[in-house]
Amino acid sequence: MARVFNFSAGPAALPEEVLKQAAEEMVDWHGSGQSVMEMSHRGKEFIAIAQAAEADLRELMGIPANYKVLFLQGGASLQFEMIPINLLRGKASADYVHTGEWAKKAIKAAKTFCNVNVAASAEDKSFTYAPAQADWKLNKDAAYVHYTANETIGGVEFNWVPETGDVPLVCDMSSNILSRAVDVSRYGLIYAGAQKNIGPAGLTIVIVRDDLVGKAVPTPPAMLNYQTHVDAESMYNTPPTYAIYIAGLVFQWLKKNGGVAAMEQKNIEKAGLLYNYLETTDFYRNPVAKADRSRMNVPFTLKDAGLDDEFLKGAKARGMVQLKGHRSVGGMRASIYNAMPVEGVKALVDYMKEFAASKG
Ligand SMILES: *Cc1c(COP(=O)(O)O)cnc(C)c1O
Repeated sequence: MARVFNFSAGPAALPEEVLKQAAEEMVDWHGSGQSVMEMSHRGKEFIAIAQAAEADLRELMGIPANYKVLFLQGGASLQFEMIPINLLRGKASADYVHTGEWAKKAIKAAKTFCNVNVAASAEDKSFTYAPAQADWKLNKDAAYVHYTANETIGGVEFNWVPETGDVPLVCDMSSNILSRAVDVSRYGLIYAGAQKNIGPAGLTIVIVRDDLVGKAVPTPPAMLNYQTHVDAESMYNTPPTYAIYIAGLVFQWLKKNGGVAAMEQKNIEKAGLLYNYLETTDFYRNPVAKADRSRMNVPFTLKDAGLDDEFLKGAKARGMVQLKGHRSVGGMRASIYNAMPVEGVKALVDYMKEFAASKG
């Protein structure tokens, strides 16, 4: 069977070249006589794989030397809790920007540990925009400011980096990391689950500035303390070895294909194809403010929700899957991460036109 165009929001499509390379290396990795899954995480083969993955990620994102890169588990959801545990540093409150489902979960988790000041919220317009910096009410005594760079469900993305002065900026980049150029030095901490735009589920990446490590709440659980993982170079316990290996192959694939700058251009082109078409029709609708439309996740509804199932069935028959929108918003969602080729987006737009014409 030919591979489908997979528009899943996560776990999401991986580059076919990466999957083929992993298949070739599955039984015998580089003449070691074993698969990566069977290797000791402390053996020289796997250490080399993990070190190369970190070095490649550092190169791709231009991560400064005073930042640690951690390969953890527990998903972005565990970071919702590790962030207050580690970054409150004796302060009583933190600022959060509320932009939708994922911000909401981050806020809920933080409330267990501190006062949460919702510095800005897009709730007044059903989370269809990114609140402008001028409308943020930041607390100068906040331990940090947290925002969600891309709301995977709502399809709202920040096209700018918030300014927070001396207060560390913390960002959930789960669904747009490596999709665009980012100045890491603007951030105190960046985190991302790998299963959207990097690799398999099970790996979470944390990029944290040195001075924010080692200041956790008194007697933190060791596993929840960044210092533990910094000291052990992400090998305090058994890391998700195979996920790290696949992420490393994705990093190599990115480097071979022009790095983040080239990927960003491709992502602008892909998102443009979809949004430009959406603007020409009232058969489909995307509710997000134009300046804040996500390049990664494009939600849209059909004029007549009664046609949703037929739309999805027709898409599947044409080799396009996972277009059903999140259960909380309904409609459709096309997730078009780095691994989605432009051909996939073209095929989708062609199908949308055809479907609209047949029902219009
Ligand atoms: C998927 C997602 C999460 C949750 O990730 P888990 O790895 O399932 O914990 C958090 N934030 C954003 C923006 C996401 O897209």
